[in-house]
Amino acid sequence: MKICYIVAMRAEATPFIEHYGVELLAGFFAPLPCQCYHTQVNGSDLYVVLNGEQHGSDLVGCEAASVATLAAIQKIQPDLVINSGTCGAFRSNGANIGDIYLGSGVMFHDRRVPGDDAWGTQALGNYPVWEGTSALAQKLGFKLGKVTTGSSLDMQPCDEQIIRENHGELKDMEGAAIAFVCSLFHLPILFVKSVTDLCDSGAATYDEFSKNLALASENLRQANVRIIDTLIRAL
Ligand code: SAH
Repeated sequence: MKICYIVAMRAEATPFIEHYGVELLAGFFAPLPCQCYHTQVNGSDLYVVLNGEQHGSDLVGCEAASVATLAAIQKIQPDLVINSGTCGAFRSNGANIGDIYLGSGVMFHDRRVPGDDAWGTQALGNYPVWEGTSALAQKLGFKLGKVTTGSSLDMQPCDEQIIRENHGELKDMEGAAIAFVCSLFHLPILFVKSVTDLCDSGAATYDEFSKNLALASENLRQANVRIIDTLIRAL
């Protein structure tokens, strides 16, 4: 069994990387900036792929996530892809800072493409997630929510309208791009998301995000250790 994590920011992955003592496979994706870490856990292969850096910062967003996911799938040929990362969520849905959610679905919220139903369907994406997601959430006591992806950290009124109309709950910048690539390969994707900020709190998103990034990343580590333990034991 090969499990491949796709993570956008190094800070999100660091507690996890340190926990497992994964090793950097230098040059694995050269000349791409993505970085690959690997270890074995009870005979299963665990890969952690980071998008890498450009312009002196971690590459976030859909383009980098698509490149990392495509490269990872082609080189690693995983059985399961897991996207672990932070997200914004909504107080009105009962979310709290640091909560862990698994993704019950995934869509884009900032692709406004007029046309017939086919174009609208493509724009929203609504890709499948791993069929074991809701049983895993129930078993481990995590919340479930629909991931909604766009290219910006802020939320414009037109984004919010699409999110509300389509019941989006976990706002990120990579999830649907990763699911899109997985859908092309018919590979299962599991989302593990930790809440750094509440989109309807009235606070500035960047301030909330920065303040809560370390807590959310530590919660991601704890959640992922339990998830890996469960997935590997289920083999
Ligand atoms: N300026 C930030 C950049 C991080 S961008 C920094 O200095 O660290 C935000 C990252 O966290 C993205 O990878 C995205 O997936 C996730 N994220 C967290 N909260 C988000 C929100 N409210 N909306 C969109 N993405 C969010």
